[in-house]
Amino acid sequence: MDTKTKKKKTTTSSHVQGDEGHIPHHTMMPYKFVPYQLQKDEPYMNDRQLAHFRAILEAWKKELMKEVDNTIIEMKEASVTVLADPNDRATQEEAFNLELRTRDRERKLIRKIEEALQQIDDKEYGYCESCGVEIGIRRLEARPTAVLCIDCKTLDEIREKRTAQ
Ligand SMILES: [Zn+2]
Repeated sequence: MDTKTKKKKTTTSSHVQGDEGHIPHHTMMPYKFVPYQLQKDEPYMNDRQLAHFRAILEAWKKELMKEVDNTIIEMKEASVTVLADPNDRATQEEAFNLELRTRDRERKLIRKIEEALQQIDDKEYGYCESCGVEIGIRRLEARPTAVLCIDCKTLDEIREKRTAQ
């Protein structure tokens, strides 16, 4: 629970770019869950596993939707106050732009979560989009929207860095 209150307070100052696809910290998974207990000879992505990830994804989505709603309310409230000082106005505008960008990221993340939930519905969740290999329970628990296995993700990042230069 205390991670929640902490998160709320730092909403406007936590726009640090995370290393996971440039997602700010407060849009990372907001809560702790019980790690999946693998049973012996359990088939990958059986119904119990799918249900586990569905619960994680749905809770995360709910949290993000709340975040988006709060941002809208905060911006509406702030925009009613007309600031006399041009410097204050500039600061406010900067804050607005940051909020908009954050909201945009949150929306994208919500879309990714919805895609993952769709994959769960289709029982296609948990396999690498690029090579078809099992992404793995632990990697998915750390990043439930992952669509690439760790090898393909690493290759992807190397490629990305190269094109960025
Ligand atoms: Zn792969």
